[in-house]
Amino acid sequence: MSLPASVTPDLLAKLTGMVVSTSGRSHAVTEVYTGEKVCDLPQSDPGDVKAAYSAARAAQAVWASWPLKRRVGVMKRFHELLLGQGLVVADLMQVETGKARRMAFEETCDVLMVTSHYIKAAPRILRERKHGGVVPIVSTSTEVRIPKGVVGLISPWNFPFATSLSDAMPALIAGNGVVLKPDNKSTLNVAYGVRLLYEAGLPAGLIQIVCGEGPDIGAAIVENADYVMFTGSTATGRVIGAQAGQNLVGCTLELGGKNPLIVLDDANLDEAVAGTVAATFLNTGQACMHIERIYVSERRREEFTKRFVEAAQAIRLGATYDFAPDMGSLVSVAQRERVQAHVDDAVGKGATVLTGGKPRPDLGPAFFEPTVLTDVTPDMVLARAETFGPVTAIYSYATVDEAVALANDTEYGLNASVWGSDRRAAEAVGRRIQAGNINVNDGLAASYASKKSTSGGLKASGVGSRHGDAGMLKYTDVQNVAVLKKQVLTNPPDTDWTKQVAKTVKGLRLMRKLGIR
Ligand code: NAD
Repeated sequence: MSLPASVTPDLLAKLTGMVVSTSGRSHAVTEVYTGEKVCDLPQSDPGDVKAAYSAARAAQAVWASWPLKRRVGVMKRFHELLLGQGLVVADLMQVETGKARRMAFEETCDVLMVTSHYIKAAPRILRERKHGGVVPIVSTSTEVRIPKGVVGLISPWNFPFATSLSDAMPALIAGNGVVLKPDNKSTLNVAYGVRLLYEAGLPAGLIQIVCGEGPDIGAAIVENADYVMFTGSTATGRVIGAQAGQNLVGCTLELGGKNPLIVLDDANLDEAVAGTVAATFLNTGQACMHIERIYVSERRREEFTKRFVEAAQAIRLGATYDFAPDMGSLVSVAQRERVQAHVDDAVGKGATVLTGGKPRPDLGPAFFEPTVLTDVTPDMVLARAETFGPVTAIYSYATVDEAVALANDTEYGLNASVWGSDRRAAEAVGRRIQAGNINVNDGLAASYASKKSTSGGLKASGVGSRHGDAGMLKYTDVQNVAVLKKQVLTNPPDTDWTKQVAKTVKGLRLMRKLGIR
């Protein structure tokens, strides 16, 4: 198999040349479909990380001095460039992660949607807010949003382009610089996106790319950051959250999930089966919000299971750089082994494989079949831990209360899905599930793609959120600028304090009654 035509040695040299690195060390990037080496990715050391922050800080001072309109103008040009070059990004993403082309293309759309949302919303979100001050008429107080400075952004390999560029976008528009650390497995597509940002007019140096294994440079990234945006596993999130706390900088942690889906008695099974297949197997089951637990009412269980298994068996796997395959590869042989270990553990303890359960070496080294299990019990690893592969388990329930209790029986709280024809009843069930994203009659895209609304994980699925107003405000500090037209707040030395107390009490009562404060 040959690499996509766009992935030339010249392009690879340009992209790897963007990494800040003086270490002399490199990581071998391989094509997932074949395991063949594509290029050497330079690795950064903690000194490189520090240098990256210095350069980004210098550029940030210039960028933040530009009027918002000018910064937004750059993002409009970026949006146009990405509209034209999304398929090159998809080529790179497929080479690096093995995901299906449809998924890679959709991922570029996430960045387009987030960019266009904040282009429109930024002036409203970032505008100054003037309030009456402490003393009516003679004072004012204005909330002013200023950028944090330079954001340390760490992203995973599963949605590398979106979790890097979509999360950098509100930070940049708000006036920050960014030091970006993608996963070693998925840096090239991210670097291509950063190139487009520079082509659109970003000041030189504003986004820096550093590369390395997390434990080698993670601490340096957090130590130098004014804010940390992290997407990845819950285990790593705990480490980064602790480091950010030590440095007294804020952080957003978007972490793992073990997401439930409930099929209610009155669900339309044509829609529920198709939607559950999409939400389970998209991105080869390597999505933080994808479904790993399916709860079906006892009355519908047999019919749902039969149709769901048939639909899973109809999924077309393939290792091609075109839109034909429904599902691509897992990201690596190590990930395939992890998924296999979860399935083997379950089968060893009595689970039944309804379909799949095996690798597909005929297609590529990391392919794994869409897999549906049943008879899964709480002692099995995959009952509770995130498998992060094309594997799900079907359970049944007797009452809606039981379904809700089972859905909530997890340390995670990222996404939940409920299917039912009575939409209000289904929504009421959804609102009882402890998750940051609730999708009614959809698996996950409905909530994730609603960029006006904030989205984040509850419980061990995260701290903070992205999208919506909060997704931009988190990258800013607030200055409270208070101005007195006349100094009325200090008391002269001969103040009669008995009278002063009475006057103050009267004034406070009046202000409450008049609704001033
Ligand atoms: P991971 O935590 O191993 O790695 C994520 C990133 O953190 C990588 O860039 C990695 O190099 C870096 N990293 C690792 N150790 C680090 C350390 N000590 N300090 C600093 N950086 C470090 O996660 P992963 O396995 O690559 O990604 C998959 C996980 O990400 C899954 O758990 C998935 O659910 C989660 N995820 C969550 C969301 C979300 O929005 N909630 C989105 C995508 C993925």
